[in-house]
Amino acid sequence: MPLVSGAAIRFEGQVASFSMQGGGACYHCLSQLFGEQQLTCMEAGILSPVVGIIGSMQALEAVKILAGVGTPLYGKLQLFDALTGQWREFSLNKDPLCNVCGAT
Ligand SMILES: [Zn+2]
Repeated sequence: MPLVSGAAIRFEGQVASFSMQGGGACYHCLSQLFGEQQLTCMEAGILSPVVGIIGSMQALEAVKILAGVGTPLYGKLQLFDALTGQWREFSLNKDPLCNVCGAT
């Protein structure tokens, strides 16, 4: 079952989708990129419209996957900067040493 992930904190948000069928990165691969710094929204703050934007993008992504239209964000990470209104997209590569999806 595909996973559509979204997160938001301060003035930033991110969206990514995962499908274990394609052999790409999993959520654990993504979480390893951000290390142990896990501030909560209570600690760091969150601009509430950012949550709405990221939630809408997750809903859009889920509809695309369910309907089989468009190009899902598999293997990609999209970052939203609310201060500039810009989206950036990065390739999300599988970690060969990942405890969840790696070869080991
Ligand atoms: Zn992984």
